[in-house]
Amino acid sequence: MPRYEYRCRTCGDTFELNRPMAESAAPASCPAGHDDTVKLLSTVAMGGVSRGSAPAPAPQGGGGGCCGGGCCG
Ligand SMILES: [Zn+2]
Repeated sequence: MPRYEYRCRTCGDTFELNRPMAESAAPASCPAGHDDTVKLLSTVAMGGVSRGSAPAPAPQGGGGGCCGGGCCG
């Protein structure tokens, strides 16, 4: 399970949580109980692949197929 680091904007503390990737963007309360937290860059995301070699997901960003919007005609 990946580990994510958060910082509390109320008390300025940083803390880490082990949680599934699906919940990485979910709100996290600091150990003191504050809800105003921000997620820091995760250590698991490091590796220097932020530019140049990012895989393009799809050339067309439509939602529902190419032939649905008349782009195939
Ligand atoms: Zn706090």
